[in-house]
Parts: sequence; C-alpha cells; structure tokens
Amino acid sequence: MTQSCSPTGCGPLTPEQEHILKGHGTEYPGSSPLNHEKRPGLYHCAGCGQTLFDSETKYESGSGWPSFYDARPGAVETTQDTRHGMVRTEVHCASCKGHLGHVFPDGPLPTGLRYCMNGLALAFEPS
Ligand SMILES: [Zn+2]
Repeated sequence: MTQSCSPTGCGPLTPEQEHILKGHGTEYPGSSPLNHEKRPGLYHCAGCGQTLFDSETKYESGSGWPSFYDARPGAVETTQDTRHGMVRTEVHCASCKGHLGHVFPDGPLPTGLRYCMNGLALAFEPS
C-alpha cells in the first residue's frame, strides 16, 4: 500500500502506522525502505506532514532503522520513556505528538545524537 503525502498532509494511515504513531509501536528492524534512501529531500511526519528531518542529517547507523544526527529546529519533542525496563528518550512530533522513535547519545558529530526513527512514521519527499 502506498501512501500519498505532501508537505501539507498525508493520506490515511495504515494500521501499522497507527500502531507506531499512536501506540508507541516499533517496526521490525531493517523493514523500512527508507533505510536505504539516499536521495536529497525532506522527511515529513506521516501523521501530520510536518517537516522533521533533512536528508543532509541522515546517516547509516547500522541499527536497521532510519537514523539522523539532527532534527529540524522545533520539529520534534522528547520525553523520558521507561517502558520495557529501560530509560530511553522518546521522540515525538512537536505538531501532532505522534510517536516517531527514540534518540540516543551515540551518534556522529556535530551533535553526537542518533535519532532512531521508525520509517513508517516518516514520509519522504525527494527534492
Ligand atoms: Zn506529526
């Protein structure tokens, strides 16, 4: 199933996307075609269309999830997540509050951060 998405909004969410964005789900590692997306462009929130990440900050982390070392200013917010017996920093869309993934302090410079994102929570727009 393909989803129609533009910077101003997205088509209906699939059950898998609903599970991630609204149920704090996690997609199976390596399952997202965005892992291998290398074209220049912008990554939008699949829930509301807000621009979240620039392709310039995407890098190959080897984690199996699309990874970025920085987010667009003000695009995402974080909360402390103590689910599953771990203390992690949860990342969600600042606009619709949809769950996107987690951020870890083991990314590359200049930020040292690794935004570990669910590909299903993102909509890529090639530039
Ligand atoms: Zn959103």
